[in-house]
Order: sequence, then C-alpha cells, then structure tokens
Amino acid sequence: MPEKKPSRKPLISGNWKMHHNHFEAIQTVQKLGYRLDKEDYELVDVSVHPPFTDIRSVQTTLESDKIPILLGAQNCYFEEKGAFTGEVSPAFLAKLNVSLVIVGHSERRELFGETDEVVNKKVKAVLRFGMTPILCVGETLAEREAGGTDEKVLGQVKAGLAGLKADQVASMVIAYEPIWAIGTGKTATSEDAQAVCGSIRATVGDLFDDPTASAVRIQYGGSVKPANIAELMAQPDIDGALVGGASLDPDEFAKIVRYRLTA
Ligand code: PEP
Repeated sequence: MPEKKPSRKPLISGNWKMHHNHFEAIQTVQKLGYRLDKEDYELVDVSVHPPFTDIRSVQTTLESDKIPILLGAQNCYFEEKGAFTGEVSPAFLAKLNVSLVIVGHSERRELFGETDEVVNKKVKAVLRFGMTPILCVGETLAEREAGGTDEKVLGQVKAGLAGLKADQVASMVIAYEPIWAIGTGKTATSEDAQAVCGSIRATVGDLFDDPTASAVRIQYGGSVKPANIAELMAQPDIDGALVGGASLDPDEFAKIVRYRLTA
C-alpha cells in the first residue's frame, strides 16, 4: 500500500492565467510575501505561475526580497530551440529559475488543441531541463454525467506519463481539475475530489510501483477558495491545490496557503 499523506509536502500553486501585467505581478508577489511567514513555507510549498512576460520581473523580485515562493510557468514548448515562432523554450524557463511548469491545463487542451501526445512531450521536456511538471487532467461535465470521469482522467494520466521512469514520476505533480469546476464557482465535493485523486494515485501505483504512487503529489483544482480549501486538504490523496481566480488576490491566496488556521 502507498504510504500515508504526511510524507508529501503540500503544494499550493497560483495560476494567474492571462492576468496581471509585470507591474501588477511584482506588487502581487510582494504583497503575498508580506502575508506569509517562515512557518507557512515550512509547512507548504507555494508557487506562482505568472504570464511569460512577467516571469523575469517576478524572478528578480522573489530573489532580491528573499521571498521563498517557487516560480512557475503556465506552459512551454517541447523543443529546446528552433523555428517555432511564438513558442517558449523550456531551457529559457530553466534559465530564469522556474521550478514548476503547468502542462496540459484544460484551457490549453480545449482552446489550443493540445493532445495527450503533445502534453506527454511537454512533460518530458520540462523534466529534461530539471523542472517539475504539473500535469493537469480532468473531465468535462458531459463526461462526468455520462459516468466517464475515470476513463477520461485516468486515460490522460496514462498518456501524460507514458515513457517516463518511476523516479521522474515520483518527482512530479498531477493536478486533478474537473473542467466544469474551473472558474465557475462550482467545486467538486471533497469526497468526489478524493475519489478521483485516489484513483489517480492507484493508477500511478499500477503503472509504476507503490513508492512512486506514495511520492507523487496530487493537487485538486477548480474554484478553490479560502472557504473550501481546508476540507479538500483533509482528504488523504489531496496534497495541494492549483488555484486560478483566487490566486490573483494576495489576501485570498495567503488565506488558502494558511488553510491550517481555518481547519
Ligand atoms: C485553474 O486555473 O487551474 C483553476 C482551477 O481556476 P479557478 O481556481 O479559477 O477555478
């Protein structure tokens, strides 16, 4: 059986999507830095994922103000360099001390046509450059209502992890984000979210082994707010959250990171 949750440090990540220009981004991380303290960072890993144009500004702010928030990106291309107009190299992100890259967010899959194959290539590219992929998976409302949640989500997990070694998977993050809960104000019940996250962990165990299943961190994402984070985090297979809207406001995001105080 995979080990219990305390062996996995929670990771709370803020996906800013296409919000905050670089001035706003600097202010947001500085405000967040004031609201979080040493104990918060000891208990929870915190990452922010600004738009590409903000990353250098956020990097220098975090480093000069010594704020131990991890720098993340929202996407990258799978090639290192070449004639790929408009794409961003994982090598360039690594050079900016980016440590976590969101891969296969449902908005990338649904709006920009990213297939499971492309997502798998991106996961490998992120790992190749020493960063951690946050592999996003999730079902639509129609798929859920047709009873197809496991088929869709576990299929995305298998495809996203194809060809990886166990130690690579153990270092990764998988974000379960039901599409119907993203930006809609609807959250999966903590029991439903736990059931899917538990199935994801069991699938990692089947594909690799128990130590890998015990080590991989699984986030829940979809309208996470200060009011629902504690209940989600109490679930045995939920190790963190990928937060969109509520991460734009440093007060709200800090409350989410400090969920232990509301539990
Ligand atoms: C997301 O952007 O991945 C997300 C879960 O957004 P929200 O928290 O706004 O639903």
